[in-house]
Amino acid sequence: DLSRWQRPLRAMFPIIAEHPELVYLDSAATSQKPRAVLDAVQTYLTTVNANAGRGTYPWANASTALLEDTRARIKSFFADPAPERSDVFFTSGTTAGLRSVALDWLPGVLTDGDEIVVPFADHQANLVPWLDLQKLLAARGVRVTVREMPYQAASGDYDPAALAETVGPRTRFVAATHVHHVYGADMNVQRIRRAVGPETPICLDAAQSVGHLPVSVADLDVDFVVFSGHKALALPGSGAVWARQARGPRFAPGGWDGTPNTAGAAGLAAALDWLEAAGTDRIERWTTALALRLTDGLRKLPPYQVLGCQKSLDPGSGVQPRCGIVTFRHRDIGAHDMGFILFSHGFMVRTDDHCQSGAGEKTSSVRVSVHVYNTPEEIDRLLDVLRTLE
Ligand code: PMP
Repeated sequence: DLSRWQRPLRAMFPIIAEHPELVYLDSAATSQKPRAVLDAVQTYLTTVNANAGRGTYPWANASTALLEDTRARIKSFFADPAPERSDVFFTSGTTAGLRSVALDWLPGVLTDGDEIVVPFADHQANLVPWLDLQKLLAARGVRVTVREMPYQAASGDYDPAALAETVGPRTRFVAATHVHHVYGADMNVQRIRRAVGPETPICLDAAQSVGHLPVSVADLDVDFVVFSGHKALALPGSGAVWARQARGPRFAPGGWDGTPNTAGAAGLAAALDWLEAAGTDRIERWTTALALRLTDGLRKLPPYQVLGCQKSLDPGSGVQPRCGIVTFRHRDIGAHDMGFILFSHGFMVRTDDHCQSGAGEKTSSVRVSVHVYNTPEEIDRLLDVLRTLE
């Protein structure tokens, strides 16, 4: 019975405990933080705070060691089978991490006439850097073709059969998303490795999967995993890129060129400890069950349309939600108004186009996203309010 497991975990989030009248349903935008993360940041700042990699006194050494420990922690969290052959670089988040792969690493890989395959209907953070790279190289006289990762219309995840036709002898790189930030769908990236073959580097946007489900770099067989700490129970500004140093040149965007976010790293290591102790497999089961509960409830309410792959989540459809994200629209009430109405009942949800790139369902909608601290009762109370708006 997962509710016996969940109850004490929910109690570990001070902001949730202090606001019983409010229901936070916007975790895909940013997560709340457990006490252990807040304590780790405070302990670091009140005991050994110093600039890392500089100085020879104990606080500076402790700060340097903290970054190294956090790197090792990220590798073990990703079940990295060969940590001596991978690196972790700290970034401010997924947006900065993807830009770094695009602009620090890819220019050293691509030559005139090469092709890359990237998603056109995922988060803009996973499209804009590849287009910027194309412009940057064009200015140097290097032509790179950006191809669209094919999607399956019915389910919203990638289409590996069509990908086999998109990929050619000049394909040098593939960007993909692990879990979709509007539809909550598992994009089935393992099938992408099979479609592109063993040599092509794959970069994974894991913003919506890290902290929500087990992320194993061996199982996924990708070359870069990019994520944001703030969506995984840690602080804003504490993301990272995990890079396997196998296919292509070494990824080394610098590291000691500026002052690193040591307090953020302290929080990130604590968040990964917390997540592992709680069990990412259980978190996945919990949040997915909440998403299905909401989807099932919405299906019985005629004015609501559930968007994306969730609409085909019938048993046997083969589409797996792997995250607590449900996005929907009301027939007559605009998303913005829905946001105000829902907040008048204490529910905090996301309402806009969710930074989705071009090919997505672009008009604005309501996104409900949960994490380990949310409960079935909250979903039922939300459905009670939605029912009054028929
Ligand atoms: N990719 C995906 C799939 C996301 O959901 C987000 C955040 N909404 C980002 C990238 C960007 O993350 P950040 O704002 O932390 O850089």
